[in-house]
Amino acid sequence: MPETPSSPLAAAVDLARAAAEETAGDPGVVGEHLSATPEEAFDPLLGEALTHSFASTLPGYVGWYWAVTLARAVDEESITVDEVVLLPGEQALLAPAWVPWHERLRPGDLSVGDVLPSTEDDPRLVPSYTVDDDSAEDPEARAVASELGLGRERVMSREGRAGALARWTGGDFGPRSSMARHAPGPCGTCGFFLPLAGSLRSAAGACGNAYAPAADHVVTVDYGCGAHSQATLVAQDTTEVVTSARYDTSEYDVLTD
Ligand code: SF4
Repeated sequence: MPETPSSPLAAAVDLARAAAEETAGDPGVVGEHLSATPEEAFDPLLGEALTHSFASTLPGYVGWYWAVTLARAVDEESITVDEVVLLPGEQALLAPAWVPWHERLRPGDLSVGDVLPSTEDDPRLVPSYTVDDDSAEDPEARAVASELGLGRERVMSREGRAGALARWTGGDFGPRSSMARHAPGPCGTCGFFLPLAGSLRSAAGACGNAYAPAADHVVTVDYGCGAHSQATLVAQDTTEVVTSARYDTSEYDVLTD
């Protein structure tokens, strides 16, 4: 039958208070006794431990409490003070959880002269020489890749590319924009469309048409605008071809001079 926790620890409130006051350096900041909580079930080999809690009256620490842990070894009469700490209670005012800077940044936060290094474990990037090879990182492979002039040490990962494509698809120059819905044709069939290289070639590119709303921006192949290279004019009257001209999709306006 295990021995039950002895009461001396629970009764040693004054000892615990003295320890808290000594740690605080000011008896006036240790308030009323709140509780006495056994730390673990009594161990017949090691003894027992118990924590006394006292309200904190320390300025700026409303809702905090002093926790004083006392211990007593088996067959020992003396009680020792294990630890004195100031802890936040349920009502304590706490600072918001710290968020790493790279998770706090938002697009547009970067100013001229700022440096934004990517982290080693940035999921948007992978070592370039393992893009098509699942082999583990290998210093020799890195050296060979460099000697062969493969260039960049890291390239965008599948996750990074998927994120970029999702932004482009959902943005102003993606297929769901009103411009795209009323376009005479998609960018993928337009002569001004400059496809990206690599695996995103069939999904997105740059618009090289200076008169297009998306000029010099990334567009998806299924975006489109009225400046499509193959948009045709339907002349209703050759003498008024400019003023009455329309694209063969009836909803499109044409710039006239
Ligand atoms: S001109 Fe219009 S349709 Fe052609 S690539 Fe640019 S945005 Fe796409």
